[in-house]
Amino acid sequence: MVAMSKLKIWKEEWDEAEKEWDGRAKKAAAFLQLKGLTSLPNMPGITEETAKNLKWKSFKWMLTQDHKREIMKGFLKHPIKYGWSLIKSMWRGKSYLREGDFFLYGVKSVEHFKGLINNPDSLFVLGFSYCHKPFECPSGRFTPDCIADVENSVCQQCFIGKAVNAGQDRNIIPLFIPTVHYIGGKIFEIAHENPGKQILFIITACEMTLEMFGDWGNMVKIQGLGVRLDGRICNTMKAFELSERGIKPGLTVVLDPTQKKILELIRFRVL
Ligand code: SF4
Repeated sequence: MVAMSKLKIWKEEWDEAEKEWDGRAKKAAAFLQLKGLTSLPNMPGITEETAKNLKWKSFKWMLTQDHKREIMKGFLKHPIKYGWSLIKSMWRGKSYLREGDFFLYGVKSVEHFKGLINNPDSLFVLGFSYCHKPFECPSGRFTPDCIADVENSVCQQCFIGKAVNAGQDRNIIPLFIPTVHYIGGKIFEIAHENPGKQILFIITACEMTLEMFGDWGNMVKIQGLGVRLDGRICNTMKAFELSERGIKPGLTVVLDPTQKKILELIRFRVL
């Protein structure tokens, strides 16, 4: 554990707080080296074979693996509205636009998204795929938990910890995502508990997942950015299915320039 003093508050002194965070991350790394990637593997986002009939594969996965009925329960609250939106999104072909590592759902550009998060009354979901939690994560990797403890040497080196601490604000909802059914169920819950509220999001995930489940986000009419992960991503159905069951021996990462952009957006929202 690294000795800590009182931390700066991001909302009040962003630059100082970030400098302090990065300094502590360095000290923590000297104290405890996390298992990381030595180099970035050069992998296609989705293999050719997997890319075939992907919409159908995702539809089948969503329905057949909904063991806790997280999706069906939410869907049945407004079956006609959701059914129609889902069909429209699937019919359109691509469910997103793309800007570098950002997949845009219901927004025209990152700049457009920035305009939307300017509304403090909107709900802002900050979601993180479990596969980029460190192996040493004190909350466990395949869980919906994160203690984001500023006193913990692992959290101090974790991008999720940094983003969660920076994004502490009213109407920002952090979520830690073990499965697509979990995040789907949560989004339904948030939408139904807050009728009429605009729901915005930044969610990290593998390219394949962003491709597969965009229609389902469009169905609930949430707007936001999917952030492409790099590193040991899932790019085949087999790897995806194992990962959804918690078998994910590889580590994914948000690339440094993309981390920066995410933090800029959080900063824009909270200041
Ligand atoms: S910040 Fe959260 S995800 Fe990162 S190591 Fe800590 S508990 Fe795990």
